[in-house]
Amino acid sequence: MSPNEVYSGGCQCGAVRFRVEGPVKLASICNCRMCQKALGNFMAPFVSFGKPVEWTRGRPTEFRSSQQVRRGFCPNCGTPLTYRWGDHEPSLTIGAFDTPNAIVPTVEFAHDNRHPIFAHYDVLKAEPLGATDEERDILAILKSYQHPDRDTENWLPGQANNG
Ligand SMILES: [Zn+2]
Ligand SMILES: [Zn+2]
Repeated sequence: MSPNEVYSGGCQCGAVRFRVEGPVKLASICNCRMCQKALGNFMAPFVSFGKPVEWTRGRPTEFRSSQQVRRGFCPNCGTPLTYRWGDHEPSLTIGAFDTPNAIVPTVEFAHDNRHPIFAHYDVLKAEPLGATDEERDILAILKSYQHPDRDTENWLPGQANNG
């Protein structure tokens, strides 16, 4: 991806969409307890651009997690979207982008609170999506209500994603 490419993304239901101009300033993961709780996850992957985020549909609702930090999420589906320190431009959750694989973290914060699973990640039994007959049957009839990984002109949260 070229440095000045525009990155887009949004929440799972499509009620909140954003755009931000590259290049990436800092992509990181954080293992601190506040980030774990805010994302309901082992760790939080965030990227900052140091530029204003353009909200192209809806806006996140913010929870003030400390006197300095606000954390934004979709008010409709709850997808965690932002981390904002004071008046700084917000960082965005990498998984919310349309092309998350294009953003690779280079820093790990709160390394001392790393979840024990990461010591065993490479030895987990690795199953590709659709590895079993049962899973293939489910995938064949599944109607996704997740917003597609691209901007859409009109979108009603809860409509089927036909690609
Ligand atoms: Zn949503
Ligand atoms: Zn953190």
